[in-house]
Amino acid sequence: MKIRMYGTRGITPAPGVQSSRYGGNTSCIALRLEDSNDLMIIDAGTGIIKLGQELVSKPTPYNIKLFITHIHMDHIQGFPFFLPLYNPENNITIYYPKYEQASLEKILNILANEYVNPVHLGKIKAQIRYEHLQENIITLKTLRIKNIRVNHPILTLGFRFEHRGKVLCVITDHEPESNLKKNPNDTEKYILSDIDYGSFIEHSDLLIADAQYLPEEVKLYAGWGHANINYIVNQCIKSSVGRVVLTHHDPNRTDLQIDTIVDHYRTLITKKGLKLEIVAAREIEEYSL
Ligand SMILES: [Zn+2]
Ligand SMILES: [Zn+2]
Repeated sequence: MKIRMYGTRGITPAPGVQSSRYGGNTSCIALRLEDSNDLMIIDAGTGIIKLGQELVSKPTPYNIKLFITHIHMDHIQGFPFFLPLYNPENNITIYYPKYEQASLEKILNILANEYVNPVHLGKIKAQIRYEHLQENIITLKTLRIKNIRVNHPILTLGFRFEHRGKVLCVITDHEPESNLKKNPNDTEKYILSDIDYGSFIEHSDLLIADAQYLPEEVKLYAGWGHANINYIVNQCIKSSVGRVVLTHHDPNRTDLQIDTIVDHYRTLITKKGLKLEIVAAREIEEYSL
């Protein structure tokens, strides 16, 4: 598996000199396999725009599987500018969680509509297919994909990709069970336990995880649906994860602050004699499994 980061920010894009190294685009990851021409993409934040430009620079038709974790803007706002949509030879399957009160198809069409979009790119011409995901397992040739519902204000999925003995997990927006204020009367509320989160990521070679906040920021943002770095690092240690890529950077976090955070956690891991490799997600950086 070759995994490349195209968007590493959460909530809003964050362009500017202070974010130029880690990048200012919102959520998008590309996944390629050596034994397949299919391209897998996770999320369509603004990072998908550059990926689309790269793809159309070659005259090949594409078979694209686009996995949408959820329909918050930072995960779909680049969609109408994804240029492979406008070539009738491209096949694009969009996998997404099913909402009772919102239709992904309608939302994407509104985003591409000339009334809300400053550029009218014309009608989408690629062959598009929509598939709902509901904690089911998909097999695409040699790739096995599991999904899990995580803790976020709206229905949101995390993914586990297994290919030839290697495991990649992607969980972009998730608030730990321990952060959520539990109301004993609210028995209907869905909560993914920390134990189940740990089982889902167990023995991942690579986990790309939302670690938007610092532990001291958690109280300010309880209920926003995001994790803090302590939680992610601890879960990785418990679940024997090989390498963690911290992503969904807060839009106000500067490159220098991200450097300091990563250095701090790397030092802690070394002092404890543990093996977890910690990386901050950076645009256009590629990882191989
Ligand atoms: Zn997000
Ligand atoms: Zn979200």
